[in-house]
Amino acid sequence: MTVDTVFDKIIRREIPAQIVYEDNLCLAFKDINPQAPVHILVIPKKLIPQLSDAESQDHALLGHLLLTAKRVAAQVGLENGYRIVINNGSDGGQTVYHLHLHILGGRQMKWPPG
Ligand code: AMP
Repeated sequence: MTVDTVFDKIIRREIPAQIVYEDNLCLAFKDINPQAPVHILVIPKKLIPQLSDAESQDHALLGHLLLTAKRVAAQVGLENGYRIVINNGSDGGQTVYHLHLHILGGRQMKWPPG
């Protein structure tokens, strides 16, 4: 069973978001609580709760999400680089159970992450 999240409401335009990119498979919008000068989320329109729920049939969609992240990062001018993050499950720090890629940029990232 899948559970509707705030991201599904953004896809359906039931709540507002600052959308920066959309196509038939995915949506990219600004994170409401940015952790860097640029913080954008890329989500599939298909509800996959977390990366560990993805299946082989999602192969092309997962590739599309990464290529979209690359495209959006270029679109917003992150020419010096950026970080892509996927939090998976509670130990991964995931809070919204609709798969999403974080694009973080506009400052020097540190390693290891917290
Ligand atoms: P995660 O902790 O990886 O599940 O990331 C969830 C992200 O969603 C967090 O960075 C939140 O700030 C962000 N978020 C939650 N609600 C909204 C919203 N309504 N619009 C934009 N970003 C949101």
